[in-house]
Amino acid sequence: MRRSTIGLLLLLLAYTASAQDSIWLARTLGPLPFMEYGIGDDRLGGAKMGFLDSNVLVKVVDSFNTDYKVRLSSQHYAYITKTSLVLQGKQANRWIAHNPHLSGNIKVFGDTASDYVMLSLDDRYPYRGMQLIDPSRVAVDVYGITSNTNWITQLHTAKEIRNTWYEQTEDDVFRIYIQLKHPQHWGYAISYDSLGRHLVIRIRRQPAVLDIRRLRIAIDAGHGGDNPGASGTTSRVLEKNYTLLIAEQLRKTLKTAGVKQIFMTRTKDTSLGMPERIAMLKQFDPHLLISIHLNSAGNDTVQGTSTYYRYLGFRPLTMAILERMLSLGLKEYGNVGSFNFSLSGPTDYPNALVEVAFLSNREDEKKILNPKFHKAVAQKIYLGIVDWLNQQRTPEAARLKANN
Ligand SMILES: [Zn+2]
Repeated sequence: MRRSTIGLLLLLLAYTASAQDSIWLARTLGPLPFMEYGIGDDRLGGAKMGFLDSNVLVKVVDSFNTDYKVRLSSQHYAYITKTSLVLQGKQANRWIAHNPHLSGNIKVFGDTASDYVMLSLDDRYPYRGMQLIDPSRVAVDVYGITSNTNWITQLHTAKEIRNTWYEQTEDDVFRIYIQLKHPQHWGYAISYDSLGRHLVIRIRRQPAVLDIRRLRIAIDAGHGGDNPGASGTTSRVLEKNYTLLIAEQLRKTLKTAGVKQIFMTRTKDTSLGMPERIAMLKQFDPHLLISIHLNSAGNDTVQGTSTYYRYLGFRPLTMAILERMLSLGLKEYGNVGSFNFSLSGPTDYPNALVEVAFLSNREDEKKILNPKFHKAVAQKIYLGIVDWLNQQRTPEAARLKANN
């Protein structure tokens, strides 16, 4: 090897070593930054790990096309779209290793509407929430954090939270467990307070009166405007028009049943992006959301009705609706979990996606074209919600029945 080549190699090695000695810091921005597990992609996008608040501090370790790879803990990484991050400058790896971020104490309390778990921190760090069932709990991992939590103060004003505790699951992952009083999850939301010094987990309480007329119900008619969705195999009708017809019928059915607070994400042929829909829903703060879509498959023999959820805690609502939908004589396409659909993403309220039937199947399509069928579907979804509420009144009885 020539002397000059060796010199160049040494220079390269020195450069690589110095690059590894420091790390880029970045902060999240925009309305809905989210983390993905990997660089996978399909029509639903990459598998989502969860949403983050804005201004959350992350450590960027690599770059892949449109994503940055960020280090959450010594064992965990995530991918975040570059447009959702602002680089803040570099910090030495050695400094980071010798200055672990510490958790402070925890306070559990409630106001008139919700319960809260508040964790003291010195900045906004990334986190991920999970729903657990039997018993019902919310678990929240806070990344890059080592415990210096020496007490958890619990006040009487908390009505839904039974117990709160934590575990250091990795040297730098701090997990908070929040056990609920009721078996049903009614939703939770994680954010930072305005100073960014407290991670706040809001827990939605089960309504005191389980009467559908007292609930705020949101309905989303899938697609719209420049997003037509699927089309009928023989009729060529567009999914966006029929999701709206069924959603409108559901609104009428609920109104007739006495539901006073109903919100439709669209009532016309409007173009609406997913972040816009999620923002509108956040504003309305529903007790539950029903999304209406019509399915389509490459194989025209595929048919039937199906319901979808993302998180286990919201599964019972989708099961109750599917049960009723099957009584319409539709075939069963199934109850689908861990579904990476945008509107199944929010954890704030129980939600069910109903893929009524297949536009790509002749038999299903014939039904979809019939206005009487829209009425019947609306009635079944309404009854499904009522069944689900009844299960909450006697959850033990319902469970025993289901097991027999
Ligand atoms: Zn659709």
